[in-house]
Amino acid sequence: MTSQSRHPHDSHQPGEAPVYYECPACGYLTTDPSFAGRGLPCEYCGIPDGGARTFPAERLRRVDARIRRYDAEGESEIVVILVATFLESLMEDMLARIMAAEGGSVKLRAAVLDAQRSVGVRIGKLFPTLTGEQFEDAAARFGFREFPHRWRALRAERNAFIHDAAFEGARESLGKQSAEEAISLLDDAYALFVRINNRFVAGEKRRRHDDPRR
Ligand SMILES: [Zn+2]
Repeated sequence: MTSQSRHPHDSHQPGEAPVYYECPACGYLTTDPSFAGRGLPCEYCGIPDGGARTFPAERLRRVDARIRRYDAEGESEIVVILVATFLESLMEDMLARIMAAEGGSVKLRAAVLDAQRSVGVRIGKLFPTLTGEQFEDAAARFGFREFPHRWRALRAERNAFIHDAAFEGARESLGKQSAEEAISLLDDAYALFVRINNRFVAGEKRRRHDDPRR
């Protein structure tokens, strides 16, 4: 499988989710554990250590671990279904974080996401509306050019398997190759979404801070 995880600073134990530390002030995500608990300032906004949270949250790391266990047990179909759902949740969280950085209230964020439930519309319309960039262009800029179409292919496979013939050509089974591609996408998703976060969440907050009239 063509993993695009060519970012050595994201390197982590194979077979588990990476750990990032989140600046509570600007939302910047870093792999540098010295930010968490050792009193070093955020490398992005400079505030002193404020008790960084980890990303992904602990409960998501537990889900990630379970998905990888299913993979080790050869439960390819479960792996594809769970990874496809997991990636959609990561995207939803990311869109909510971008809206929050823009000053959107909890109510507004919930209303927008409720009105735009389809993942295709969230990626194709909501993401560019919020960021001024197509998801494909952002992914390419951060070194993950193949990610959007690989993710689309995974969703199509999941749908062809789980929806009974309502979608393009039902699939009777999903094999090891599909599961391996799903796990590879999961690994890439963390690295890509952290870069999107640092550009459109931490970056936006800094712009608002530098220019309080915004
Ligand atoms: Zn910060």
